[in-house]
Amino acid sequence: MSTADRSETSRTWCPSGKADAPESVVLGVRSGQGGEVVYLADPVPARDVLPVIPKDVEPTRVLRFASHCVSNCLHRRGNDCTLVERVAATPTDENRSVPRCHLRTHCKWWVQIGVDGCRRCPALATTVVEGDDLGVLVADPGTTREQLEAWIAEAETEAPAR
Ligand code: SF4
Repeated sequence: MSTADRSETSRTWCPSGKADAPESVVLGVRSGQGGEVVYLADPVPARDVLPVIPKDVEPTRVLRFASHCVSNCLHRRGNDCTLVERVAATPTDENRSVPRCHLRTHCKWWVQIGVDGCRRCPALATTVVEGDDLGVLVADPGTTREQLEAWIAEAETEAPAR
């Protein structure tokens, strides 16, 4: 194995990555009810897919991309990803199965929080749509986990009883 190959396999990747980074691959397709991610069995280079997406569609609204986890990311704190810390605060079904995913051995979220990240991963969109207040809070690097938990607790209190 070459030095370049070795550094590539030891590198961590972001599962909510950029579409246009040179190394970007498609992680999955947002589909079905609620736009949950269906994961590809094998990575497909983003550069092969981007040309067929209509110009007026933001690629990260319909696909999830993986790209290198980089030290100058807005979500970095030291070596940690604060985005996945906020993701981990969002409600999920703890019995939910963990999706099959080609990124796992290199995934920053898996490395950092394990199955807690994988259970929430399919529900996430890299591009937050208008009206998704929780998504906006999770995506905002300025939101602390405590603020997020307080918002979720308040929303649950206000939710009509079923
Ligand atoms: S969080 Fe889990 S499911 Fe999502 S990309 Fe990483 S390893 Fe795959």
